[in-house]
Amino acid sequence: MTQTIGIDLGTANTLVCVGEQTSKNGVPYKLNIILNEPSVVAVDYRSGDVLAVGSEARKMIGRTPDYLRAIRPLKDGVIADFDYASQMISEFIKRATSSNLLSPLSKPKLAIGVPSGITSVEKRAVREAAESAGAGQVYLIDEPMAAGIGACLPVSEPVGSMVVDIGGGTTEIAVISLSGIVVSESIRVAGDELNDAIIQYLKKVYNLAIGERTAEEIKFALGPDFGNNGDDKFEVRGLNLINGLPRTVSISQMEVREAMVEPLTSIIEAVKRTLERTPPELAADIFERGITLAGGGAMLDSLDVAIRNEVEVPVYIAENPLECVVIGTGRVLVDKTLKRVLDHQADTVAQ
Ligand code: ADP
Ligand code: MG
Repeated sequence: MTQTIGIDLGTANTLVCVGEQTSKNGVPYKLNIILNEPSVVAVDYRSGDVLAVGSEARKMIGRTPDYLRAIRPLKDGVIADFDYASQMISEFIKRATSSNLLSPLSKPKLAIGVPSGITSVEKRAVREAAESAGAGQVYLIDEPMAAGIGACLPVSEPVGSMVVDIGGGTTEIAVISLSGIVVSESIRVAGDELNDAIIQYLKKVYNLAIGERTAEEIKFALGPDFGNNGDDKFEVRGLNLINGLPRTVSISQMEVREAMVEPLTSIIEAVKRTLERTPPELAADIFERGITLAGGGAMLDSLDVAIRNEVEVPVYIAENPLECVVIGTGRVLVDKTLKRVLDHQADTVAQ
């Protein structure tokens, strides 16, 4: 039996899942997520060597001596750093294939979710990295398609489904019908930009300097569970820019929302533009059936409500927004009803 591996090569996180054939309960397959790590490599600048990949590399951020750098090779959605991206992909595939779930003897079939904006040269690099890491057949799947499959949307049917995948570096928006992407747009405004907007706001309003990780904590903490009262406060520690001393300020959920207005508006505008470019029948389907949000950004406080209000379309958050893409890449290899998606795979168009 051929082993199958699905990979979500995200700008922030890489996930790997392994498909297993099973006849239990009449279900023909089972998918297990066996790896979920930040897309980070730690590099020794003197020699160019990669010293660590994934969680281990992320821990080094901000704690490295001068000659070490923690790099996110896919940061802006395209492969910003080619060599390091390839090494990272190889390392993750090796970790997945060496886990005891897979037999080292058979070459696994592999599906990789790639950002829809990547060039054919970059696609070749991803494919080569996968092949050199021991994969047999390699399929490249557009990320929003994988997200749609992972979110159980009827991607093969003649109805329009819209997916908005808000990751770290990019937001990808796509309308899917009959196993293909009909219209899509990818913008470089997503989770990282939101963190940055929070950093800028605190600097401007409170003269407070904070790092990326603190900004991300603020974004997480003020999620939907924080409470519905916009006046609830959150304590932020940083450095006073005027005297360089540590300082704590309390900011409200309303302020964080205000800080993020600009990038959030860009995302909503991109959704509107994509809908405007959608053929009328498919647009009618979307107005009726709604938009599905995926990626880590789907969990942002009130984003679903904001889109619903602005675009006047029902908006749903996928069940496991961070796992949709990897589940989609895993499922596309084992679910026979999705065969046509493989025929439409990402690089057949570009070649
Ligand atoms: P990518 O596919 O680009 O790797 P992910 O889908 O893994 O990205 O999402 C990562 C982004 O989602 C990060 O910017 C992170 O800050 C954001 N994120 C994760 N969880 C949450 C949350 N609960 N609330 C808001 N943003 C979140
Ligand atoms: Mg993603």
